[in-house]
Amino acid sequence: MPLKGLKVRIYPNKKQKLFIQCNFGYTRFVWNQMLAMLIERHKNNPDAPFLNAYALNNLLPALKKEYPWLKEAESTSLQITNHDLVEAFKKFFKQKHGFPKFKSKKFLKQSYQCKCVNQNIRQAATNSIQLPKLGMLRFRSGKPIPGTVKSVTIRKTFTGNYDAVLLVEDENQVFTKTGNTIGLDFGVSDLLIGSDEQKIPSIRFDKKLSKKLHHWEKRLARRRLQAQKAIAWDRHNHVLQPRQLANFKNVQKAKLMVAKVHEKIAHQRQNYLHQITTKLVKNYDRIVIEDLKTKNMMRNHKLARAIANQAWREIRRMLTYKCAWYGKEFVVVNPYKTSQICSNCGHDDGKHGLGVREWTCPQCTTHHDRDVNAAKNILTLGLGQALVKEL
Ligand SMILES: [Zn+2]
Repeated sequence: MPLKGLKVRIYPNKKQKLFIQCNFGYTRFVWNQMLAMLIERHKNNPDAPFLNAYALNNLLPALKKEYPWLKEAESTSLQITNHDLVEAFKKFFKQKHGFPKFKSKKFLKQSYQCKCVNQNIRQAATNSIQLPKLGMLRFRSGKPIPGTVKSVTIRKTFTGNYDAVLLVEDENQVFTKTGNTIGLDFGVSDLLIGSDEQKIPSIRFDKKLSKKLHHWEKRLARRRLQAQKAIAWDRHNHVLQPRQLANFKNVQKAKLMVAKVHEKIAHQRQNYLHQITTKLVKNYDRIVIEDLKTKNMMRNHKLARAIANQAWREIRRMLTYKCAWYGKEFVVVNPYKTSQICSNCGHDDGKHGLGVREWTCPQCTTHHDRDVNAAKNILTLGLGQALVKEL
C-alpha cells in the first residue's frame, strides 16, 4: 500500500518538550557512537564486512549498559537512527553522497523518528494525539488521522515550533459512491447485524490464545512466589542488600510473555475491527448505527458482553473517522423501540425479552429475526434523519 506523509503542528507541554529535546540528544549520540565505531572497525580491519542495521541494533543493549541514561530514549528511534546511518553509508558506497558526518548539537533543525507499535500513535480526540513515550499531546487538526499510522517524525523547526510528520497508509483515498445504505444493530455472538441480513460474527481472540496465556500466567505466578520466598529468606537472614523482584530474570521474562500475549490479543481484535469497518465504508455511502448509551444500560458482567461493549465503541470510533476520511455519511440514531416495532408494517409488538430471537408480526404476519428487524428499523430511522437534514 502506498504511504503518504501528513504533517501536523503539535503543542508539547514543558515536560514533553524536555523529553523531545533529550531524545534528539539520544539519537544523535547513537549516530555518533555507531559512526565512530564503524570508522574504528574499518581502520583496525579493512577487510571486515560492513555491518547492517540489524547488527547495529544488536549493539544497542551493550551501549545502554555502558550509558544507562540511554535507556530513557524512545527505543525504536534508536533503531531507526541505525537504519539511517547504514543508508547513509550505502549512498556513500554508491558514490552518490559524501562520507557520513558526525552530528552536532548546534544543528538547529532537529528530529527523530519512531515506529508505530501497538497503536501507540493515534488520534485520541479531535485535538489530541498520542505519541510514543510522550503520551497525549495537543495538536492542530485539519483532517482526521486514519487508523493506520506507520511512523512519526517529531521535528523542532528553526523557529522553535514542533511538527509531527505522520506516515500513513494511503488506502485508496477516494472510495467511489455505491448508492448503498445500511443500518447496523450491535449484538454479542454476532457482533454486527446488517439491515441487509448480513451477520458479522464476534471472534473471541482471547479464547484462541487462552492456552498460551494460561501457560505463562501459571509460570509467572509460580516464579513470583519463589522469588518472594527468596526475598523473605534474605530479609530474615539480614542480608545487607536483599534481592528485589526486578533481580529475578525468570519472573521478568514470564511477566513480559504475559504482556506479549495480551498485546497480541488486542492487536488481533483491532485488526479485525479495522477490516470490518473499512469494508463497510467502502461498500456503503450511508451507515446508520444505534446510539450505544441506551444499549450500555443493560449491565451484564459476562466477559463476552464486556468484550462486545468495547468492540462497539471501537467500531463507532473507527466508522466516525473513516466515514469523514472517505467522504461517506455516518448517522447515529436513538434505538428506542427498534427491537419491538415491525420493520414491515410499523406495528408495535411490545417488549421482547432478550431470549426472543425470532418473532412473527401479528398484523402483517412477517416472520422476523430479532436483530435483522432492529437493523432495518435503525436504517429507517437513519434515512428519516437524513431526509430531515436535506429538507
Ligand atoms: Zn408487521
